[in-house]
Amino acid sequence: TTVERDLKAAIRTIPDYPKPGILFRDITTLLSDAWAFRRTVDEMVQPWAGMKIDKVAGIEARGFILGGAVAHQVSAGFVPIRKKGKLPHKRVSIAYSLEYGLDEMEIHEDAVVAGERVILVDDLIATGGTAVGAVTLMRQLGAEVLAACFVIDLPDLGGADKLRQLDVPVRTVLTFD
Ligand code: 5GP
Repeated sequence: TTVERDLKAAIRTIPDYPKPGILFRDITTLLSDAWAFRRTVDEMVQPWAGMKIDKVAGIEARGFILGGAVAHQVSAGFVPIRKKGKLPHKRVSIAYSLEYGLDEMEIHEDAVVAGERVILVDDLIATGGTAVGAVTLMRQLGAEVLAACFVIDLPDLGGADKLRQLDVPVRTVLTFD
């Protein structure tokens, strides 16, 4: 569609970042474009418009920007999933796999209450390591993960399929092959 084409044009691609051979999809150019930012958030939440959602969980750091906007849009609270060592209160942690090695992410133990309906937000899904970790963390707190939403899917890396295998509906706005 033309919307898809115009939103895609708002993404900047940086070759060899953060290391040689990687094509980095830079969303700062999309965020700085008023029409593109609003339209992207509208597209991310479209299947859940009007549904009761308790919390939006955003993954550090670009998931905070998008997740805050999504939470406002669906009248939900926002909770941050952060890299290890950043949250001040009692937290639960999970190790997750990155392209190169392992890292840890955390959430406050009282960020969601068992049974709450949560939507997970990040800017991009690649291998799915980050998102699978976040889903596992939310489920450890007893949350019902209604969906995971991303601006960009890199389908060749299989992350969205991994989430679907965990019975998480996936919503992505743009695909880069
Ligand atoms: P995954 O864990 O799915 O392999 O990688 C996704 C995570 O890495 C997301 O948190 C995302 O922000 C980041 N990421 C990986 N590649 C890119 C990229 O090309 N552009 C952006 N904006 N983020 C990326």
